Amino acid sequence: MTDKSKLTPMMQQYQKIKDQYPDAFLFYRLGDFYEMFNEDAVKGSQLLELTLTSRSHKSKNPIPMCGVPHRAVQNYIDILIDKGYKVAICEQMEDPKSAKGMVKRAITQLVTPGTKTDSGADNAKNNNYLTALSYANGQYGFAYADLSTGELKVSILNNNSSVLNETLSLQTKEIVLGPKVPQNLIDLLKKVGILISYQHSIDVKSEMSYLLQDINNELEKDVLNRLLTYILNTQKRNLSHMQKVIEYQPAHFLKLDHNSQYNLEINKNIRTGKKSGTLLWLLDETKTAMGGRKLKRWLNRPLINKDDILKRQKFVEAFLDSYFERSQIREILTEVYDLERLAGKVSFGSVNGRDLIQLKSSLSQIPKLKHVIGELDSNIFGDFYNQIDPIDDVVDLIERSINDESPISVTEGNVIKSDYDNQLDKYRDAMTNGKHWLAELEQKERVATGINNLKIGFNRVFGYYIEVTKANLDKLPENKYERKQTLTNAERFSTPELKKTEALILEAQDKSKTLEYNLFTQIRDIVKDAIQRIQNLADLVSSLDVLQSFATVSEDYHFIKPKLNDEHDLKIIDGRHPVVEKVLGRQTYVPNSVIMDSTTNVLLITGPNMSGKSTYMRQLALTVIMSQIGCFVPAKSALMPIFDQIFTRIGAADDLISGESTFMVEMKESNAAIENATPNSLILFDEIGRGTATYDGMALAQSIIEYVHDNLHAKTLFSTHYHELTALDKSLKNLQNVHVGATEKDGNLVFLHKVEKGAADKSYGIHVAKLAGLPDDLLNRASDILSHLESKDKSIDNNSSDLSDNQKNDVKVDLDNYQLELFNQKSVTTNQQADKLKNTGVIEEI
Ligand code: ADP
Repeated sequence: MTDKSKLTPMMQQYQKIKDQYPDAFLFYRLGDFYEMFNEDAVKGSQLLELTLTSRSHKSKNPIPMCGVPHRAVQNYIDILIDKGYKVAICEQMEDPKSAKGMVKRAITQLVTPGTKTDSGADNAKNNNYLTALSYANGQYGFAYADLSTGELKVSILNNNSSVLNETLSLQTKEIVLGPKVPQNLIDLLKKVGILISYQHSIDVKSEMSYLLQDINNELEKDVLNRLLTYILNTQKRNLSHMQKVIEYQPAHFLKLDHNSQYNLEINKNIRTGKKSGTLLWLLDETKTAMGGRKLKRWLNRPLINKDDILKRQKFVEAFLDSYFERSQIREILTEVYDLERLAGKVSFGSVNGRDLIQLKSSLSQIPKLKHVIGELDSNIFGDFYNQIDPIDDVVDLIERSINDESPISVTEGNVIKSDYDNQLDKYRDAMTNGKHWLAELEQKERVATGINNLKIGFNRVFGYYIEVTKANLDKLPENKYERKQTLTNAERFSTPELKKTEALILEAQDKSKTLEYNLFTQIRDIVKDAIQRIQNLADLVSSLDVLQSFATVSEDYHFIKPKLNDEHDLKIIDGRHPVVEKVLGRQTYVPNSVIMDSTTNVLLITGPNMSGKSTYMRQLALTVIMSQIGCFVPAKSALMPIFDQIFTRIGAADDLISGESTFMVEMKESNAAIENATPNSLILFDEIGRGTATYDGMALAQSIIEYVHDNLHAKTLFSTHYHELTALDKSLKNLQNVHVGATEKDGNLVFLHKVEKGAADKSYGIHVAKLAGLPDDLLNRASDILSHLESKDKSIDNNSSDLSDNQKNDVKVDLDNYQLELFNQKSVTTNQQADKLKNTGVIEEI
């Protein structure tokens, strides 16, 4: 930078502030604009498509500059934040008119991706989490907060992958780090696109310390203090809506790592990155934004405690039985705005008259809601009924005080109702009378001058004036009229009488605006005292909303209540993949059962490509998740164990994070399952081993199955195109073969999508290839190779007695591979269905 002493006083002030916020765009308030200078201006003008100009352009070193009008500033801030930048907002701290020397300026807020609270309608159903991490003795303190709702949680995590999983599944955009966090983890976090911020010092004001009073763990305290310090430093505003910290342990919920969540398309469609085509999309019949957010939270943390699941099931069941009340509740909920975020705004002081009117109209729905809840079975809904507080004191206050048609601004008047405050009514009288006086004066002047089109008007610069057209000027008497302004066709004047009236009116206007603002802040402070009650209410309403949503989707899509058991008994009769079913239509989808009693641990699934193996596995995973969030499930009947973890190796996605090869990811995910699965876990392995050469792929696949079978006892679905593996049912007593078949109809190959007992027909490949219309020469050649291989009598492993004993299971690996390629080149039949799904993004490219 240039020598600071050579800068103008204003640029010196700018630079001093900028030096404190080197990593943020500095929006420097100058009159009606926020200006950016130097590098900020160059970069900002590109990102925001603004014209780059310069200050002191005549000097040798002009300063690049660009600006945004203050009224539109929010849009520009949003754009920068969405791109992952920070914006420091620097305001004028005194009125420039009355300032002596340089106007005082200070940063009033540092907006960052994790602390942004003014999210638009698009984000109503999403939380925006700011996370924080501290490290000590091999453990991590992990905390997160949503500033718009006040949610605050903390946990201890034991390794890098847990940290990564938590941050990714919370979809946080920013993480605040303490010192000592290992560099390799920081690199990983950066790699997945999370903005890293540092908070080395800790300074939590005493008024926030009550949030932490129940926390005894030092590492948790440390990370919470860091998070709160960062929030206080950036927000510089009231945070009385922050809720008491909740400690949680990821192990108290069904564990589903981020890759599985991604591959199963729980929240995000793999192809589009959007919500459509996901489980969340299917289940979301919530009517409020806070219900939408809670649904997402529940979906991402399914329960493992049986009683907790049963409790939710009971509500869903009761709602299903009470169609009438449920529709009434749904209707009422559509009228309820985002109470959680309104409470946040009240606390920040950013609430305006319209927000309070929204709060009032939302709260006035609550007595109706309570009444309908009272009509429901009190054994089930009694607690809800008793806890719902309509907060009518707040409703009453807003009803008495705030105008239904309040303007956006709270400083320009028209916010407070008449009859609320005596003094305000008096000022308003003066203003109304003033208008009256002006009309009278206008009439009087017309008569006195004989100018019929003489009029009294107002503008911001000159105030009130008497306007006379040029043609009539000669009719004005001399002296009395003082010239104020000359227009093309008219002249504007003032008189002592007009000045007096004007003074009265302006004074009343001015005073009434100030008074209104003061009254408004008093009302806001009373509402602020009710924040905790509003938050409690929001919590109840959002739970009701999610539960009614579960009932609604369960009814719409014919889900049934799963029966839970502790005996590892899994028996889903005629289960369906709910999302694929919704897209294909109920008639088209072929239901399939998953039957694994307590003695069956591994289902080995064979069948050609595109037959439905992967869909079958996903179907099971989604059914488990739905069951454990307390929703009903897509099946005719379902007996389900409670799973503690789901491990998947599904889909062709390469690792999102490390950019490793598919095979490496396959092996890593297999290892994650092997290291961590318990007898209560669910493992889904889709064609493990296909990513490498046939022999070692198959060898690995077999040894993984054996290991899982012998050591883990977790329920495992393993799909494979290595037909030879089906012989494992001879040696592994808890393994069963199933297959998905296909048949021929009118010369076309038809996938039946039906899962049946036993292994698939191994000669299926050439048959299918024929139906696919491959040339005869090619098919004959394939048959030759097949017989050649069969005659060679190859076995995978001569030491493996199971396989070598069984001549029929000779390895036709090359041929299998060959068949597979035939499929990949050209797949007939249900392509239309597949296309339909692809178009909607339900499945990834096959
Ligand atoms: P695989 O894993 O065997 O290659 P997929 O599970 O990807 O096959 O299924 C291929 C396509 O078959 C799916 O995209 C879907 O259109 C269809 N499909 C799968 N299962 C069913 C089913 N049970 N009912 C109807 N269509 C199905």
